[in-house]
Amino acid sequence: AVRVRFAPSPTGFLHLGGLRTALYNYIFARKHRGSFILRLEDTDQTRLVPGAAENIEDMLEWAGIPPDESPRQGGPAGPYQQSQRLELYAQATEALVKTGAAYPCFCSPERLELLKREALRNHQTPRYDSRCRNLTQKQVAQKLAEVPKPAIRFRLEEEAPAFQDLVYGWKQHEVASVEGDPVILKSDGFPTYHLACVVDDHHMGISHVLRGSEWLSSTSKHLLLYQALGWQPPHFAHLPLLLNRDGSKLSKRQGDVFLEHFATAGFLPDALLDIITNCGSGFAENQMGRTLPELVTQFDLTRITCHSALLDLEKLPEFNRVHLRRLVSSEAQRRQLVGKLQALVEEVFGSQLQDRAVLDPAYMERIILLRQGHICRLQDLVSPAYSYLWTRPAVGRAQLGTISEKVDEIAKRVIGLLERPGVSLTQDVLNGELKKLSEGLEGTKYSNVMRLLRVALSGQPQGPPVAEMIVSLGPKEVRERIQKVLS
Ligand code: GLU
Repeated sequence: AVRVRFAPSPTGFLHLGGLRTALYNYIFARKHRGSFILRLEDTDQTRLVPGAAENIEDMLEWAGIPPDESPRQGGPAGPYQQSQRLELYAQATEALVKTGAAYPCFCSPERLELLKREALRNHQTPRYDSRCRNLTQKQVAQKLAEVPKPAIRFRLEEEAPAFQDLVYGWKQHEVASVEGDPVILKSDGFPTYHLACVVDDHHMGISHVLRGSEWLSSTSKHLLLYQALGWQPPHFAHLPLLLNRDGSKLSKRQGDVFLEHFATAGFLPDALLDIITNCGSGFAENQMGRTLPELVTQFDLTRITCHSALLDLEKLPEFNRVHLRRLVSSEAQRRQLVGKLQALVEEVFGSQLQDRAVLDPAYMERIILLRQGHICRLQDLVSPAYSYLWTRPAVGRAQLGTISEKVDEIAKRVIGLLERPGVSLTQDVLNGELKKLSEGLEGTKYSNVMRLLRVALSGQPQGPPVAEMIVSLGPKEVRERIQKVLS
């Protein structure tokens, strides 16, 4: 059975890069009717960020790709936090020490730090000098008396096995000569990444490891561990990097790569999943507007290429517009959007809502249907440009009089137009009618009529087209606003 995992370290909140890795794992699991597992790699206790673990799981749920097994969900292979699996790492380490594949290292942190500094001074990669690699049993026993809990290092074979990555093809990385034997278990009993990852992928029955390409060069090390432990390794598929459009790194420091930012800003999860898969590979063609079930059916792992995925976030609003329109076209989804819009209007205009009627679901729905093609996010409907939809302007006759002396005449004619029976007032019809109307008023320019109406309806000298405002507000509200201004 296919079992895949997303294994972030809770050292930060979920960002777009993490979402991408999680998404491909999720899609792959669904495609093969397998399981998608969330495992938190929290062994570096000094780097934990409060709230990150919860945020990661919350955001996967928000994105619509919740794990089947996770710290919160539980599951048959739990616990799903590495800090709660120390026993398993200790067992594996013991087995490795027994066969001589791992050995205790008594070097002090100070000594290792000196080694590292010296290497850096000589512009070399720091490499463990193997001081404890070949201690005799007697030496080990002596040192254990002084240091009862030494770190454990894995004895790397000179030659790492080659492996076939499902994306990058045949690979073989020199590992022994680069950094020397790695610590797999620290003296405090916590494992390091390599051991914990291998032990967990094995015990959790992971069939395929889909992870970022930054881990490609660690895979040889992992395979040596599998070999030494006598375990069958999973398949590996490394995903190319997700970068900004200009090829720079997606900075985690600009707050706007965190998922929470997009959720609060009112972007739809589907729009994010869509833009992320569109800039990457894994599909026969790029196509805007795909939903998650469509991504699952169309995904093909063999189509993932080694090219970096360049993400152009400036296109996100457009992706969102497409997905918003899709939701609007479904009655059930539209009802949910109405609920969301009501909440937004209350949140933004709550204290200014003299007229609760604007919260009427039928009015909300009409506004959504009318404006869907013009907005990217539902949030746009509560931006200042659209405040006229929810609040009545505080303007009086005095302001209008400065625009045209014929205020009353104009008002009378506009109201007459709105009340004319049998005409359906679309934006196009209105534009024509308003033009005719101002032509019949001698000495009054069309532009003044429009300005007067705009101020009367919205209180703003600039804003959306007047005909659009009239259609959105409806004839009754338009008449009332005009009459109120003139009263
Ligand atoms: N904990 C690693 C990370 O944060 C996981 C690497 C892996 O998937 O093996 O990316």
